Amino acid sequence: MSIKAYGAHARDKSLEPMEITRRAPGARDVQIDIAYCGVCHSDLHTVRAEWAGTLFPCVPGHEIVGRVSAVGAHVTDHKIGDLVGVGCIVDSCQHCEECDSGLENYCDGMVGTYNGATPDAPGHTLGGYSQQIVVHERYVLRIHHPEAQLAAVAPLLCAGITTYSPLRHWQAGAGKKVGVVGIGGLGHMGIKIAHAMGAHVVAFTTSPSKRDAAKALGADETVVSCNADEMAAHVKSFDFILNTVAAPHNLDAYMTLLKRDGTMCLVGMPASPHPSPEVFHLIGKRRALAGSMIGGIPETQEMLDFCAEHGIVADIELIRADQINEAYERMVKGDVKYRFVIDSASLSASIPR
Ligand SMILES: [Zn+2]
Ligand SMILES: [Zn+2]
Repeated sequence: MSIKAYGAHARDKSLEPMEITRRAPGARDVQIDIAYCGVCHSDLHTVRAEWAGTLFPCVPGHEIVGRVSAVGAHVTDHKIGDLVGVGCIVDSCQHCEECDSGLENYCDGMVGTYNGATPDAPGHTLGGYSQQIVVHERYVLRIHHPEAQLAAVAPLLCAGITTYSPLRHWQAGAGKKVGVVGIGGLGHMGIKIAHAMGAHVVAFTTSPSKRDAAKALGADETVVSCNADEMAAHVKSFDFILNTVAAPHNLDAYMTLLKRDGTMCLVGMPASPHPSPEVFHLIGKRRALAGSMIGGIPETQEMLDFCAEHGIVADIELIRADQINEAYERMVKGDVKYRFVIDSASLSASIPR
């Protein structure tokens, strides 16, 4: 079936309206009419081929929410009319150790929601800047938030799980002092979720103007990271630091803030390497530097349920599909609080060339 989408035909081209096709739902497939799709930094990096391997045409989007409009004969978990979400993963090998553990995000055969390998036309997956998507039921999440919040739920499917998974893994919660570095799309979710888990949350930012915003998101304290005195006041005090900054920066400044056995986890992907951490800072206090990538499907469901229970959604700015190029320019400048979300209804007004 042919549907409307927004994507790019080449790395140096703007995004524009296009027609794409989706497969007819197979026995275990769920067809979803997309209501909203969040705009992630990975979308921009991929569509501009800033990371290697972008296949064109490229239709980004992996923060998808909508309503089930058809199901295959063997689908048991979802029915027509259900509110559902699709995140960064639409397939995986389904039999490796990672898949068996519900950590499909670490499966070597993981298929991304866009730019992943698929037998479907055009040979790679096309994402959520589109009217509809067809996904194997295993990778479809249930949404229990009120429908009125649906647009603001969309960013949970990437920004939410990317921060929830490490916070859960390193047991952020009551009695723990947790730092969140960077108050952007990922960081603002990290603050909300760590706060809801019961941790004492300290937000790190380079701009003093973000202090009030951080507090409103749930931070107990805010530290301006370029202020040496403010940083020094927190030396050897953190159990865990979630670092969401993708730009290369001095990790040592944060490593020294960790207690003995503390961990800093990186979730931002820099285009060039960070200056390496000073090994002494690791050895001297048995500290760990770690990384984490999105989350598995069961964990993503757990995150959505946790957020519904705690009334957590993203702070968003809703846009039409034809505003996406402008939105990218604003994202590059950091001019978004904190996530753009495309209203998919605007796609029906777009005229393919
Ligand atoms: Zn993303
Ligand atoms: Zn696997």
